[in-house]
Amino acid sequence: MDPSMSPEIEAVRDMVNRFMETEVKPVMDGYEKRGEFPRELVRKAGAAGLYGAVFPESVGGSNMGYLAAAVIQEEMVRNDVRFSSCNNQQGSTCPSGIYFGGTPEQIQKYVPNLLAGKTIGMMSLTESGGGSDAEGNMKTFARRDGDVYRITGQKMWASIANETDVGILFAKTDLKVGAKGVTAFIVQPKTYPGWKAQPIDCLGLSKSMRTNVVFLDDFIVPVEDRLGQEGDGFKIIMRTLQPGRVGVAAKALGVARACFEEALRYANDRVLRGQPIGRFQMIQSDIAEMATAIEASRALVYKAAQMMDDSLPSNRIAAIAKFHASQTAKMCADKAMQIFGGYGLATEYRVSYYRAYSDMFFTGEGSANVQKIMIAEDALGYKLADRHHGKTGLRDIRKDDVLKDFKA
Ligand SMILES: Cc1cc2nc3c(=O)[nH]c(=O)nc-3n(C[C@H](O)[C@H](O)[C@H](O)COP(=O)(O)OP(=O)(O)OC[C@H]3O[C@@H](n4cnc5c(N)ncnc54)[C@H](O)[C@@H]3O)c2cc1C
Repeated sequence: MDPSMSPEIEAVRDMVNRFMETEVKPVMDGYEKRGEFPRELVRKAGAAGLYGAVFPESVGGSNMGYLAAAVIQEEMVRNDVRFSSCNNQQGSTCPSGIYFGGTPEQIQKYVPNLLAGKTIGMMSLTESGGGSDAEGNMKTFARRDGDVYRITGQKMWASIANETDVGILFAKTDLKVGAKGVTAFIVQPKTYPGWKAQPIDCLGLSKSMRTNVVFLDDFIVPVEDRLGQEGDGFKIIMRTLQPGRVGVAAKALGVARACFEEALRYANDRVLRGQPIGRFQMIQSDIAEMATAIEASRALVYKAAQMMDDSLPSNRIAAIAKFHASQTAKMCADKAMQIFGGYGLATEYRVSYYRAYSDMFFTGEGSANVQKIMIAEDALGYKLADRHHGKTGLRDIRKDDVLKDFKA
């Protein structure tokens, strides 16, 4: 309960906590042990409205907004970070990319099922040449062949690509014009040939929701599944990653809070020299630093989300929130490990995997250095972070309800 938040937002927080407590926590360890994707749980989370907070009701969303979405991410991660591994694919990058760049037919065909958790999403931008300059280093090529494109190349770190039904994938349709040659595609790996996803073994990350290398060998995408025009891909990426960044910041906040709560519990339980270790001043110093950083991160994440709800320029604040929250998560994961001593390394304790997730949130959807470059160049006046606000020509999820009067 946060007394600075509205009762509606706090009701959302309660609802998420109830869902995680009753539906996810009792079964998630089992999925992890089996390495099985929790498809039924994703469907239940979709039915509970956990993926649709920023989308209009016409596509199955609840139109509650970015602040509600941030609170949902924060609480899901705080309860079980592993189950949150597909949140972006179900409720952010994948459906919002389709919403921003798609036709009404494409939106109606794909977005409602993603938000409902009935189909499993994916967003694949990164390649092995470097995620921080994904467009510049993109080699994957989509060749037009009559009514289809044939895509050949290799994508890297494509989360959930081994399970996805419907995703978005970026490939070059023109190799000579840099970012202007990037095109976005809706992909259906279970429907068309030429797709092979190979999970990457990652220390400390979920065994049930995996990230992958994807090998594309003349993989087929019908022309009608292209998002926007050839060359629109870069615009769609930039527009899609901005809310995604606030989502990752909220997830980092969730990890920081989980570390803090575990550390408090352990500091009170673990008795050394006749007293709980929480009585030791150096442990208290760690607790105080965690509490302070979490409050600051939370204020920034909520401010960024609120500014997005108010349709204000929010690229700069999103970068600041993501940078701060991911640093806080790393710091809290580190301190929680220290407080747990050797036990922090045992996988039966959740703190053993928070470090890996905090590292992931530090790097994913724009690394910490990339956020710092954006923040500093804005401050120095070299490149304003919000220079494209309102000028991308793409629709706004919350304001432009394209399906309201649309009949398929
Ligand atoms: C678990 C996981 C899941 C992921 N899921 C997805 C997904 O679903 N879809 C997807 O498309 N991608 C995904 N990614 C990719 C992620 O977005 C990239 O890892 C990220 O963009 C960084 O790219 P990179 O790892 O290639 O690092 P690089 O770009 O090679 O960067 C290496 C280092 O150099 C630094 N650096 C880069 N440029 C500069 C500069 N100009 N100045 C100073 N320092 C710089 C970076 O901060 C970083 O520290 C995922 C990654 C992970 C680890």
